[in-house]
Amino acid sequence: MAKKKSTKKKNTKRKRPEPKLVKAPEAERRRAARIYKKLQDKYPDAHCALIHSNPFELLVATILSAQCTDVLVNKVTPGIFAKLPTPQMMAKADLATIESLVNRVNFWRNKAKNLKAMAELLVEKHDGVVPQTMEELIELPGAARKTANVVLGNAFNINTGVVVDTHVGRIAKRLGLTKHDDPKKIERDLMALFPRKNWCMLSHLLIYHGRAACKARHALCHEDDLCRTYCSNAKMD
Ligand code: SF4
Repeated sequence: MAKKKSTKKKNTKRKRPEPKLVKAPEAERRRAARIYKKLQDKYPDAHCALIHSNPFELLVATILSAQCTDVLVNKVTPGIFAKLPTPQMMAKADLATIESLVNRVNFWRNKAKNLKAMAELLVEKHDGVVPQTMEELIELPGAARKTANVVLGNAFNINTGVVVDTHVGRIAKRLGLTKHDDPKKIERDLMALFPRKNWCMLSHLLIYHGRAACKARHALCHEDDLCRTYCSNAKMD
């Protein structure tokens, strides 16, 4: 009997290589460096707001933080880390158990599913160790480029990109560091403006500035020295 042809399509989709990063013009980089220095002076304690003690915990917390406040994530994660502290334990846990641990965050059903699948893949493919490359991290369920950047930068001190969330995007635009709204384009602009070693800290600094002054609504535009020097919103009067 003739062999039946497989109807399964091979995944022939090739990932496009990232375009080569071209540095921004020197004058723009110098301006960016001055803004960075001001931010550093103002927020010397800037750091990752997600409480964690190892890369796996940070990965879990970051997956949970999508469209959710870091404050709420930090309330939920101690329960998860106490009950399911390793990828092996999370992979073996019932979905219902994981759901009961995360049901205070939004999209909890989906996030619980992703956490279980992420832990399973970590165990199957990486011996339960969080990988240290962008390519491997974005393969994990629930983890896209932003999550990978958070984990690489904060858990491994590897600067592969800049974490761009809504706050970073808003403040970068207001400070004239980008003209774009698309997070990918904003990230490329920031990478072109700032030296690689500063990429991880840059997003913390911008987030701290967002909390202190550059709020989404009712920004304290005229009261801040950094703003008065570098943002047209504050330089109007
Ligand atoms: S002047 Fe206002 S809008 Fe501009 S960076 Fe400062 S707080 Fe944000």
